[in-house]
Amino acid sequence: MTVMNIIRMGHPTLRQDAVPYPEEKIGSEEFRTLVEDMRDTMASAGGIGLAAPQVDVPCQIAVIEVPEDGTRYGDTPSLPFAVYVNPQITVLDDKADGYWEGCLSVPGLMGYVERPQHIRVDYLDETGASRTIEVQGFLATVFQHEFDHLHGTLFVDRLKDSRLLMFEEEFRQFVAGEPELE
Ligand code: ZN
Repeated sequence: MTVMNIIRMGHPTLRQDAVPYPEEKIGSEEFRTLVEDMRDTMASAGGIGLAAPQVDVPCQIAVIEVPEDGTRYGDTPSLPFAVYVNPQITVLDDKADGYWEGCLSVPGLMGYVERPQHIRVDYLDETGASRTIEVQGFLATVFQHEFDHLHGTLFVDRLKDSRLLMFEEEFRQFVAGEPELE
């Protein structure tokens, strides 16, 4: 198991356009090692998605896994672990909705972001096969957040209002309304 270092906002790699991953290298030893290490890194950090630029590898690969329990993100649909290579998003419905987003590269902060809630994603899977997935709601937000990383964009660039950026602790205290235990 290899846990890679997750780079944080301010590191220039997070602001680069990542390059498409060469199709002929999908399935190679290098590819499989990178994907396995990204999976370990995401699990270790407790994330539901991780893009290669976040581990300082500027290529278009992301991994996503939304667990069943969804405790951290409320009552949300789950999605089994999968690898997305060179993904392209097509917005199927402009209607946007907002979620409070966090990011392993922006630790400790939460921000409210509105994004289209019905998208199609065309991508290559871990065998190099072309695939298409249609997602709605929270999962549409997750995909857009992760794939933004492949184009140098962070959720803080998409805040609905800069006042809707706050620390997790204050978010829990003042927004999520969790009762304080004494
Ligand atoms: Zn992120």
